[in-house]
Amino acid sequence: MDEQQAFFSRELLRWYHENRRDLPWRRGHNPYYTWVSEIMLQQTRVDTVIPYFERFISKFPTATALADAKEEDVLKAWEGLGYYSRARNLQAAAREVKERYAGEVPDDVAAVSSLKGIGPYTAGAIMSIAFNRNEPAVDGNVMRVLSRFFRLHDDIAKPSTRVKIEKVARALIPDGHASHFNQALMELGALTCTPKSPSCLLCPVMEHCEGRLAGEELLLPIKTKAKPPKPEVRFAALVEGMGRHEGQLLIRKRPDTGLLARMWELPHVLAQKQTSKGSTTQEAAMDQVRELLFQEGIHAEPVEAYCDAEHTFSHIQWQMRVYRCKALSEMALPPGYAYIEREHMAEYAFPNLFVKLIQGYFEEQQSVRNG
Ligand code: SF4
Repeated sequence: MDEQQAFFSRELLRWYHENRRDLPWRRGHNPYYTWVSEIMLQQTRVDTVIPYFERFISKFPTATALADAKEEDVLKAWEGLGYYSRARNLQAAAREVKERYAGEVPDDVAAVSSLKGIGPYTAGAIMSIAFNRNEPAVDGNVMRVLSRFFRLHDDIAKPSTRVKIEKVARALIPDGHASHFNQALMELGALTCTPKSPSCLLCPVMEHCEGRLAGEELLLPIKTKAKPPKPEVRFAALVEGMGRHEGQLLIRKRPDTGLLARMWELPHVLAQKQTSKGSTTQEAAMDQVRELLFQEGIHAEPVEAYCDAEHTFSHIQWQMRVYRCKALSEMALPPGYAYIEREHMAEYAFPNLFVKLIQGYFEEQQSVRNG
């Protein structure tokens, strides 16, 4: 370690001991807690994760408990966090941990890396935070801090840059302090060396930060822009039941594979563009909803536009136009369909977009009933 590296590691650790946040997954060194928290924290803010983490751990306190749980319950506990493949992979990996490692997360980087849903960052985080092994854990926060401190101009969107920064990070880990050091690095990125307004004057390593000394703290890290998510207009059918299904809504289960696999939703269809400008008239949209219902074997008719809603995934954005529809008979439902009432929403796992839509609908009905 040269003087600049030694300075960085020493000052960062000193700062961390005074400034670390008390987070539930930091109490003790439970590898399963570290693992769950790291998976939840991908794409999600710490404040949002805390209550989810506490609930998840109280429901599934060990990898074996998670392995033995029903998938529906795991998805339900994840509901609202989004990116549901994370929850499915976590459970698949927990089953592997139960079968191959007697329910204990293995203290072995190759074994941990081979578990489903665990990439190099998460493997490094588990090995260092829980087992205090000298493994780097390089995510976007860490790439930003190190790009700035060492004034690296490599494009952090490229996989080769991650590999390079992993080497830089590995060389900085003080022997015997991997757990605190890696958490300190993440903490500095989250609290001080933030993307848009780094607090350099409060930063423990500012004295030797090359990016700051060159006035480039806001220029770094270099990152080429990812393609924006592709907008996808979809028409959804909010089918109100009749007869013994009065007051209930029709929902369907998504296929076993692919986006949001096995979660529940309102039936919907990708809009076909009708005009030269690429838009769809109200009438044409209702026709497409009618066609969707017919194709699915649902005896119902669209009545009126109900609301618009949006949900952005990493690569696509659903722009959902929802149409209120009336069931025309007490039909037998096709497989994968169900009627739901407000009290039973908790038994089904929905993506966030549909939780909001369906809850909103039931609340509206309730207030109409209450006058
Ligand atoms: S001095 Fe500023 S740019 Fe450098 S590491 Fe600290 S907060 Fe980041």
